[in-house]
Amino acid sequence: MKLVILDRDGVINEDSDDFIKSPAEWKPIRGSLVAIARLHRAGWRVVVATNQSGIARNLLDLDTLARIHETMQRQVSDAGGMIDAVFFCPHGPNDHCDCRKPAPGMLNDIARRLHTELTGVPAIGDSLRDIQAATAAGASPILVRTGKGSRTVSDPELDKSVPVFNDLYSAVDNLLKVQ
Ligand SMILES: [Zn+2]
Repeated sequence: MKLVILDRDGVINEDSDDFIKSPAEWKPIRGSLVAIARLHRAGWRVVVATNQSGIARNLLDLDTLARIHETMQRQVSDAGGMIDAVFFCPHGPNDHCDCRKPAPGMLNDIARRLHTELTGVPAIGDSLRDIQAATAAGASPILVRTGKGSRTVSDPELDKSVPVFNDLYSAVDNLLKVQ
C-alpha cells in the first residue's frame, strides 16, 4: 500500500496563530488540493494527522471540527482527490496524551488501523513536532516551508537529513517522480 501522512494546518491549509475555528477559516494553500488529487490518482492513500488543541482550549467543539473536515473533504473532492481518514488529537500540551505530536501515538494508530508498517511512509509537516513524531513512529519525515516551515527550516533541533520542499505541491511532485 502506498500511504502518505499529512499534517493539516500549514501543509494543506493556511495556518493561523488564532487556530482554525470554523469552516470559513479553512483556506487551502495554493496547489495543495491538486497535490492530494495527484496522489489519489496515482493510487496513494492519504491520511491526515493533526494536533487540534483548540478543542482542549474550548475554542471549538468536536461538531465544528467535523464540519471543518467536511469542508476540507469537499474541496479536496472537488479538486479530484480524496482524504482516506483524518486523525486528530483533541488534547492540550498539558494533557500528557500520547497522540499530540511530537508523540508518535497518532501515527501508530494510523499504522494499526490500516494494518501497515510506517517504514518508508512519507509524513509531511511544517513543524518540528511533525518531523519528530514521524521519526519517533519510524516514518519518513518531509518538511515543507509553508505554515511554520519557513521557521522550522532553521531550527537547530531539526535533523539536517530531513528533505525540505517549498510546499505540499513540490513535495508530492517529488514523491511521484521517485516512485
Ligand atoms: Zn492527544
